[in-house]
Amino acid sequence: MQIRTNDTVVVITGKSRGAKGKVLSASPKAGKVVVENVNMVHKHMKPRQQGMQGGVIEREAAMDASNVMLYCPKCDKGVRVGYKVLENNKKVRVCKKCGTTFDE
Ligand SMILES: [Zn+2]
Repeated sequence: MQIRTNDTVVVITGKSRGAKGKVLSASPKAGKVVVENVNMVHKHMKPRQQGMQGGVIEREAAMDASNVMLYCPKCDKGVRVGYKVLENNKKVRVCKKCGTTFDE
């Protein structure tokens, strides 16, 4: 999976198509990501403590990582990601379009 926590991604499919947001969490095993303010769902909360109100809150639901692309600031859109090995043998992600490096 090419998406990691704290990446900025663009949603490429579904009702949030075109939305851009920060990845709050990424689960490579499940192939899922949670993107800030994208794929919001209503959750019904039960009051847990006395004096606390139950109700409906909105929160992000996990979505398939294949629904998002890494956002490239230089291209100003979601892009395909390639890999490059630096001189120090570190493997970094690069934008396949413009060559911008995503990982320092
Ligand atoms: Zn680019």
